[in-house]
Amino acid sequence: MANCYKCKKELTADEIGLFRKTVDRMADKFLCIDCLAEHFDTTSESLYEMIKRLRSTGCMLFPK
Ligand SMILES: [Zn+2]
Repeated sequence: MANCYKCKKELTADEIGLFRKTVDRMADKFLCIDCLAEHFDTTSESLYEMIKRLRSTGCMLFPK
């Protein structure tokens, strides 16, 4: 599994999916949810909410 390119934290499939969804569909390096929140100047909580919402729409980037 990949690691965050900023803080080196090990990434979950959700974090990779969210990065692909919000930043770059073809990305091969990723940010963890905390660094991504900083990147978008938002909170990780709101990103978790976004993951939940995307998963409930059946988005393929977020397997159940
Ligand atoms: Zn990070």
